[in-house]
Amino acid sequence: MVKTIIAGNWKLNKTAGEAKSFIDDLKAQVDADVDADVVVIPPALFVADAVERTQDSALKVGAQNCYSEDSGAFTGETSPAALSDLGVDYVVLGHSERREIFKETDEEINAKVKAALDNKLTPILCVGETLEQREANEYVAFITEQLKAALKGLDANDISQVVFAYEPIWAIGTGKTASAQDAEEVCAEIRQVIAELTSEDVAKEASILYGGSVKAANAKEILSQDNINGVLVGGASLEVDSFTGIIDAVK
Ligand code: PEP
Repeated sequence: MVKTIIAGNWKLNKTAGEAKSFIDDLKAQVDADVDADVVVIPPALFVADAVERTQDSALKVGAQNCYSEDSGAFTGETSPAALSDLGVDYVVLGHSERREIFKETDEEINAKVKAALDNKLTPILCVGETLEQREANEYVAFITEQLKAALKGLDANDISQVVFAYEPIWAIGTGKTASAQDAEEVCAEIRQVIAELTSEDVAKEASILYGGSVKAANAKEILSQDNINGVLVGGASLEVDSFTGIIDAVK
């Protein structure tokens, strides 16, 4: 069975107090038998507390980023080994904000994916095109290259541990959602690339998420697509009501 994942990326939002009360409220609302991994992804400062607070619940915790080395003279970075030791399950890598604002390269993302896997963290590897690339009909080729670069040097067993997220940049935080058909087309292409790099069996089992202005109103249609196994949510994951509205779409 392919795992369904509903992940909420808070980005740089919430104070410690807001993070605590959000998790406590969400915990109270998410059924223990929900048929999905529901993942909260707070800023790094609140990850340790989130892990403790979610221990007796259906919720899992992710980090928004990690470094490619476990330790050393890397001021300001977050160790994947330390995240794993805390009990973190997931780490978002290659988010378009990391690529665009912080100039992360494909090589760095590839090194981070390897470091995450070495530490038994599940990478949520984000790929996605700009509006110009979509309009020039270059998006499939571009996403294929992003995937191959991020997975370079990994074997089929490594790739089987990775979760994928298709996040068209033009749909992130803009209110513009890709149509369910457009999202499905690219997620099917991603599955095809995974099959080429591994095997049909590994590709069939891969969790592929869509992200970009997902909300309760469009989650059901997105989640009903054959090749979409979950969603990565930004803005609508910041309020308990809007996030639980999306989680309810799994039922
Ligand atoms: C994201 O940041 O990964 C994202 C999908 O954001 P939003 O849902 O706000 O578009």
